[in-house]
Amino acid sequence: MNAILPQSPVPPETLQQLAQLSPAQQAFLAGYLWANSQSTASVHEAPTAAAPARKITVISASQTGNAAGVAKQFTDKLKGEKLDATLVAAGNYKARQLPKEDIVVIITSTQGEGEPPEEGVPLHHFLFGKKAPKMDGVSFAVFGLGDSSYPDFCQAGKDFDTQLAALGGERLIDRGDADLDFQATADAWIDSATQKLKNVAGGANVTPLTLVTNNAAEAHAESAYNKETPYTAALIQHSSLATADADKEVEHIEIDLGDSGITYAAGDALGVYTNNASDTVDEVLARSGLTGDETVESREGKVSIRQVLTEQSDLNQLTPQFITQYAERGDSEALSELVADRAQLLEYQAWTPLLGLLHDHPQQLPAQTLYDGLKPLTPRLYSIASAQEEVGEEVHLCVGVVDIHHHDQVYYGSASGLLSKRLDEGDDVRVFVEPNPRFRLPQDAATPIIMIGAGTGIAPYRSFLQQRSADEAEGKNWLIFGNRHFRKDFLYHAEWLAYRDQGLLHETSLAWSRDGEEKVYVQDKIRENGDTFWQWLQDGAHIYVCGDATRMAKDVEQAILDVIGDVGKLSADDATEFLNDLREADRYQRDVY
Ligand code: NAP
Repeated sequence: MNAILPQSPVPPETLQQLAQLSPAQQAFLAGYLWANSQSTASVHEAPTAAAPARKITVISASQTGNAAGVAKQFTDKLKGEKLDATLVAAGNYKARQLPKEDIVVIITSTQGEGEPPEEGVPLHHFLFGKKAPKMDGVSFAVFGLGDSSYPDFCQAGKDFDTQLAALGGERLIDRGDADLDFQATADAWIDSATQKLKNVAGGANVTPLTLVTNNAAEAHAESAYNKETPYTAALIQHSSLATADADKEVEHIEIDLGDSGITYAAGDALGVYTNNASDTVDEVLARSGLTGDETVESREGKVSIRQVLTEQSDLNQLTPQFITQYAERGDSEALSELVADRAQLLEYQAWTPLLGLLHDHPQQLPAQTLYDGLKPLTPRLYSIASAQEEVGEEVHLCVGVVDIHHHDQVYYGSASGLLSKRLDEGDDVRVFVEPNPRFRLPQDAATPIIMIGAGTGIAPYRSFLQQRSADEAEGKNWLIFGNRHFRKDFLYHAEWLAYRDQGLLHETSLAWSRDGEEKVYVQDKIRENGDTFWQWLQDGAHIYVCGDATRMAKDVEQAILDVIGDVGKLSADDATEFLNDLREADRYQRDVY
C-alpha cells in the first residue's frame, strides 16, 4: 500500500540542497527554522554566529571503569553546554569510522606494559597498522589515565595522542595524564577542554537531535549502587579451592547481596572496597616513629594518620618516587645506591611493601610525608564466578590470596587478605558491580564457546557455565585451563567433572605447568588441538581469554594466530586480519589484566 504523503511546501531544489548538509548542520537548521517560525522574541534569540555546531565523539577505552567514568563526566558536561557530543565505548566503536569524525576525544587507561585496555586494542591496531588512515580534517584530544609507579605511565594515551597527530589530525587540546588519584586532574582537564570545545565546536548552540549512548558506565550509573555508592553486603563464607599443600592459596568467596536489588551478568566484575589490617597499621606507625594520633590533610579532609593508613593508603605497592624520596631523606648508603640504578629500583619496588622498606632502611617519617608518598587504596575488581540465575542474591568470587614475604613476615594483599583472612561469616563488605560488556556469552545460545584461562582466570567460566546451564543453552563448551599442579590446583574440579558428566562441558584441555619435566601451558593445548580449534572457529565459536595480561594473554594470542595460519592455511598477515575480524565481531573477547 502506498502511503499518501502531503505535498512538500519546499521547492525540490531546496530539498536537494538540504540533503547535502551534514547531520549537525541539519540539526542546527531545524532548530533555527523552528524557532524562527515561532517568531516571538521571548521564544528564541536567533544565533548571530552562523557557524554550524561541530560533532564531538567521545570514545572511552576502559579496563576498570575509571576511564569510562571520566568520559561520561566529560560528555555530560559537553551536553550541559549544549554541544553535540556522543559517548561511545571503544568496544562498540568501529575503528574505520575514525577518519570520518569531526572532533574525536579519546579517554583511555593504560594496562600491562603500556598497552591500551582490551576494548581499545582494535582502535590502537587500526591507527598503528599498515593500513593506518589519514586523519586530515579530524580534530582530536586525548586524556590518559595510568599509574605513575609503572614505567609506561599513561603510555596508551601518549600513543593515541602522538599517532593521531602523526597521521595528520589537528590537536585541539594538550593531552592530560592522570595518576591513580585521577579525579582532580580529570576535573581540571575537563574544564579547560570544555571551554576550548565551546569556542571551536559550539556553533549556534543547538541541542543535538540524537545522542547515542551505549557505554557501560551509563547503565551502571543508573544502578542504585555503584563505585561511588557501594552496597554494604555480608560475607556468607570463604573456603579453600586449592589443597592445603598447594604453593598458592586460592579462596572461593560467597557474598550476600541481600535485598539490594543489585543485578549482574555473566562476565561482570565485582568491586570490593578494602582496608588495611590493624596490626599492619600498628607496625607502620611504630616503625615510622608515630603514635597514630598525628593529623594529616588527606583527600577526605583532616584526619588522624592511623585512620588514613587504615582506610586510604596502599601499604603494599610503593612507588619508585616514594622510595627515591625516602632515600634522599635518610642516611642509608645502600638504599641511595639502589635508587641510583633504575632497574634495581624497579625490582625492589615490585617486591617490597612499605613495612619491608621501613625494616630494611629504618627511618622516622613525618605523618604528612608518609601519607603524601603513598598510593591511594583503590577498590579491587574480581571477575564474578557465579551466575545470578543459579545463585540468586549471592555473588561468588575466586580470589588468589596475595602473600608478600619479607623479613620472615607474611603480609597479605589488602583485599584478598580482607576476604580470605580478616572477615568472618556475616561481616560487612562494601561492594559494587562493574559491568563488563566486552566479555559476554554469545546472544545465540547455540553458538559454541572456547574458554581459555590460567589460574584464577577460570573465575568467569564458572559463571558462564552456570548461565548456560540455567539457559539450557545448546552451544558446545570447551574449557582450556592451566595451573601449576593437577592434584593441588584444579580449581572447582568437582564442578567441571559434573558439567562434563551432564554433557554440558564438551571438551576439556588441561595444562599443568609443574607436574612434569617440561612446563605445559594453555597455549600448548591450543596448538596440540589445532585442528579441533580451527573446526570450532569454522562452526562460529566465540573465544574467551581470562587471566594474566602481560605474558599468558600474549602467548595465547600467538598460539591462536599459529593455528589460524597453520591449519587455516593463511599467511601471518592474513591470520592477524582474521583474528582482528573475530575481535571486531565480538568473537574474540579477553578479560585480562
Ligand atoms: P598464575 O600464577 O599467574 O599462573 C597460573 C598458571 O599459568 C600457572 O600454571 C603458570 O605456570 C601459568 N603460566 C605462567 N606463565 C604463563 C604463560 N606465559 N602462558 C601461559 N601460562 C602461564 O595464576 P594466578 O596466581 O591464579 O594468577 C592469575 C593471573 O590472572 C593474575 O595475574 C590475576 O591478576 C589475573 N586474573 C585476571 C582476571 C581478569 O582479568 N579478569 C581474573 C582472574 C585473574 P608457572 O607459574 O608454573 O610458570
